[in-house]
Amino acid sequence: MGSGNAIRGSRVGAGPMGEAERGEAAPRVRVPFWCANMHETRPSFASDAAVPEFWDCPRCGLPAGQDQNNPPAPPRNEPYKTHLAYVKERRSDKDGAAILAEALERLRTSPRTIY
Ligand SMILES: [Zn+2]
Repeated sequence: MGSGNAIRGSRVGAGPMGEAERGEAAPRVRVPFWCANMHETRPSFASDAAVPEFWDCPRCGLPAGQDQNNPPAPPRNEPYKTHLAYVKERRSDKDGAAILAEALERLRTSPRTIY
């Protein structure tokens, strides 16, 4: 990537920016990205380079996107989800046991119990 810029810079005499890019690499643009934690990072890219859709947030490592209002979801989503599902499962088991105990209690104490 860098060598491409160097070659381009050495042979371009007068670009649209005139003296600013004389003998230098292509002009760079700063593109803001936001991660799910609302960290803003503004990496710079060569103006003619393809800007990636996502950028790793230097602060928390989450992927950052160019849409501030809709940052990409954290990749840890999967294991987190699995953990959550695991917790949920355990909790529902507990709830199920509690509900069962409650139902048995009701059966025992209810005068209309039919065994
Ligand atoms: Zn971040």
